[in-house]
Parts: sequence; C-alpha cells; structure tokens
Amino acid sequence: MGAMTPDDVIPLHLADVTYPASHPLAGQDGPVLAFAIRHPDGIVLVDTGIGEGNEWIEANYRPRSRDVREALGGAKLDPDSVRAIVNSHLHFDHCGQNRAFPGVPIHVQQAELDLALREGHTIVEWVDFPNARYEAVEGDREIVDGVSVLATPGHTPGHQSVTVRTGDGLVLIVGQAAEDARSFATGPADPSIQRLRELNADRIHFSHDRAVLRRRK
Ligand SMILES: [Zn+2]
Ligand SMILES: [Zn+2]
Repeated sequence: MGAMTPDDVIPLHLADVTYPASHPLAGQDGPVLAFAIRHPDGIVLVDTGIGEGNEWIEANYRPRSRDVREALGGAKLDPDSVRAIVNSHLHFDHCGQNRAFPGVPIHVQQAELDLALREGHTIVEWVDFPNARYEAVEGDREIVDGVSVLATPGHTPGHQSVTVRTGDGLVLIVGQAAEDARSFATGPADPSIQRLRELNADRIHFSHDRAVLRRRK
C-alpha cells in the first residue's frame, strides 16, 4: 500500500457566497471549500459544501454552488469511491450535499449532532435524508489509517479539524476553527487554534480561504 503524499489532500472549491448584512464580512464574497483525501482504501471527503433549494440561504448568501460529485469527477476522482465523510461542523456550507452520499458513514462530533435540530444551526433537510448514516464522535479519533479528526470547539461547540499523516509530513485541514490563513498564523489563539498550531503541520488548509500554508523545509 503506497503512502499518501500531501498532494493526496485535494481542495474542492464548491461554492462562492456573498455574506449577508448580519455577517461580519457583510457584502464581501467568500469561497467555500471541501477536501478530498485520496486514501489507498478510498476517498475520505471532508465537508460537502452547500445544498440546493433553500430560499433563505439563496436570498441571504446568493450561493454560486458546484455539485460535489461533479467536483470530484473534475478532480479525476470517482464519487462512488467515497468511503467516509467528515463534517467539520454542521453549518449549511459544510454539510449541504451530504445527501449525495446515502449510506456512506458521516463522522460528526456528538456535540454537533446535539445542535443539528436546534433552530438556526443548520438546514435540517440537508442533514437528515433517507439512508443518512451518522457516526457520532466524542473527542479525537482515527477514522481510517492515517486520517484523524481532532475536536476543536470554538466556532461551534462540536467543530472538528482533520489531520492526514503522509509519507512526506502532516497535512492539517483546519476547517473553520480559524476563518482564514492569516488569523490562524498570527491572530489571537483560542485553545483549539493553539492546539492546531502546536501540531506544526507541513501543509495547512482552510474552509473559507484558498490560501494554503506550507512549512519551509
Ligand atoms: Zn461555520
Ligand atoms: Zn463555514
């Protein structure tokens, strides 16, 4: 079995949104990323972008979305080889197309599942669908060999980040534990960001910033 390399963590640019007046970034456009991990046993997909057909989201965020299965195909990855999904958290822009993968285990922190039905946390019909298979995680866990989730509460109580151990260093998918690369690198650090910084990862990805941090070797 060949070891993974950092290039086996593939960003998928699944949407752009325009932030609404209620948001700190009001009026600005921002990207929504997901990540495909090309694992020898199949793809692990981290987040699934924004779903379709919700009027409130359409009106407030004006999403320009891409179908996640098409995005995988565009990256020369077979959508049918997705063997596991991780949701960093259940906000609408991270779990919106979970329903494109019925029966595939979806790893989410229990603390986040506890919030899923609460008013305003997410779009329930994007989370809950026929043959949805949620696997509750409490704390840190290795999902498949070399791919682990780390509980990084803060942005939401059940937020989690993902690490990928490769033959050429550690790749970290921060998710939305930090809003962008700059704040991760130099901004104030809550305990979750502190913990992620201490990993000293060789390559670092973010949900809402296309910038990638690379450690000089
Ligand atoms: Zn969020
Ligand atoms: Zn988000």
